[in-house]
Amino acid sequence: MKRWNGWGNVNTDYPVPVSAEVYLANLFGPLDPQPDAAYETVLKSLPASRLPAHPLVDLSAEARLTHTRGQSLPDLVALRSGRIPVFPDGVAYPHTEEDVRTLIVYAQKTGAKVIPYGGGTSVAGHINPMKSDMPVMTLSLERMTRLLDLDEFGRTATFEAGVTGPELEQSLAKHGYTLGHFPQSHEYSTLGGWIATRSSGQQSYKYGRIEPLFAGGRMETPRGSIELPHFPASAAGPDIKEMILGSEGRMGVITQAKVRIRRIPAAEEFYGVFFPSWEACTEVVRQIAQEEIPVSMLRLSNPQETETTLILSGKSWVGMADKGLRLIGYGSRRCLLIFGATGSAISVRRTRAQVALICRRHGGLFVGTIVGHTWEKSRFYTPYLRNTLWERGVAIDTLETAIPWPNIMAASTAIPASIVEAARKSGEEVLAFAHLSHVYRDGASIYTTFLFRRQADPDGLLTLWGEMKHSASLTIQQHGGTITHQHGVGTDHASYLPAEKGVLGMDALRSVCKSFDPDGLMNPGKLF
Ligand SMILES: Cc1cc2nc3c(=O)[nH]c(=O)nc-3n(C[C@H](O)[C@H](O)[C@H](O)COP(=O)(O)OP(=O)(O)OC[C@H]3O[C@@H](n4cnc5c(N)ncnc54)[C@H](O)[C@@H]3O)c2cc1C
Repeated sequence: MKRWNGWGNVNTDYPVPVSAEVYLANLFGPLDPQPDAAYETVLKSLPASRLPAHPLVDLSAEARLTHTRGQSLPDLVALRSGRIPVFPDGVAYPHTEEDVRTLIVYAQKTGAKVIPYGGGTSVAGHINPMKSDMPVMTLSLERMTRLLDLDEFGRTATFEAGVTGPELEQSLAKHGYTLGHFPQSHEYSTLGGWIATRSSGQQSYKYGRIEPLFAGGRMETPRGSIELPHFPASAAGPDIKEMILGSEGRMGVITQAKVRIRRIPAAEEFYGVFFPSWEACTEVVRQIAQEEIPVSMLRLSNPQETETTLILSGKSWVGMADKGLRLIGYGSRRCLLIFGATGSAISVRRTRAQVALICRRHGGLFVGTIVGHTWEKSRFYTPYLRNTLWERGVAIDTLETAIPWPNIMAASTAIPASIVEAARKSGEEVLAFAHLSHVYRDGASIYTTFLFRRQADPDGLLTLWGEMKHSASLTIQQHGGTITHQHGVGTDHASYLPAEKGVLGMDALRSVCKSFDPDGLMNPGKLF
């Protein structure tokens, strides 16, 4: 069963290692975790639904509460404190495209706003109902998960859009194929959600972001169905698929999607390399990308993230190995690179050798597969730490961008620094660190994580979070970065979008949404 007020399955926990507890207590001083609001108490706080009964719509308090928020830090604060100002009035569960059409007509008749809901893993406020005089219906795709077609000859598969990451990969694996799209939220996020938010998987370096994987499909809109035919490529004017990518539920409900699939690779390895400094390893990563060495994944942690990763691992052998590292000169500025090689056994060996050569030239210490395997084993498990840290009195959040290479060095220092500075203005300490991932020939994504003491007062916590987030967002924009490389816009990034799209661009976006949804029923308040 899914947690109602945190990440993941109720039966899975990520205990905070003792070494990490000591580290955090030293940093933040005494922690004061306040108890969370009880599920039953919050259930009782729901106002009556404003929607008329419909066989496909669940008006129960349970359904409405469990679909009211996503996974952003403000979402977590709302759920854990029980202070949730708005709930959907009902949750619809269509089984078919025909049901989706019926539900859109029902929304048109009742004036209900419609929020398409995939896995609810949004971290930018995408699926939160906004205050409205009209009722709000969340439309969950969780019953639309079937594999509709597998074309082995043409290497495509068509799925209903509510299919989650594991369901999709299991269906394909039975036939020897993979999509290769592995966001960290893989356990719960869905194909429709990936398309609607322009998601990027951890191995996007090999498989590509969701954009090139999305080959066609269908969307139900308030003005009818739109078919997105599949062509290997097309020069027939602007691409409608491109408009739907990142549409965040504002244009309609993606009901099915055709994706480009690949054979499951014969071999895959993840390796670790330590470097004496951030400058050295950033240069290595740039060279790997620009020399087009076919790695499948790169993650380069800055000194603070490397230190925190080693401490959070809680493993005694890691502590001993780290002492050894320091003795041989990989001191407090050490950085960890994890890279993946995926393909045939020969190509994996060749890629490893090519990367090792560049790493050696820049003082890299190759530590084989042990660190890489640890990352691989925990790649979808780490988010569970958000729950346990919260329960210990520590809040954690992440933000991300993509920035051209000339600004990467400055931005990778300035973004975490801007968060620390904003927190210190409020007299708070924050632990902020970054990694580069999703590396491109012309730049890279910078992914920043920050941890801070959870204050007893939810409003105080949100104010502090807002200051840190705003400060980092401005710093991102000052360094020529996009406000989001993979998490999408939702509500949290909407105010930063005009700086990126311009006045005309924003007008164009609004017009496209309006042509699919003239009455503004679809997910209002998101994107713009
Ligand atoms: C722990 C954690 C790790 C994450 N890691 C990554 C990562 O590595 N990479 C990454 O890209 N993102 C990541 N995310 C963010 C999130 O998982 C993605 O944005 C994901 O694509 C959302 O998918 P979802 O199915 O959960 O969509 P939801 O959260 O349900 O919805 C997101 C948006 O998409 C719209 N939508 C959903 N389904 C449809 C549909 N069928 N038709 C029309 N609109 C639809 C919704 O209306 C909403 O606006 C992470 C989130 C968490 C909590």
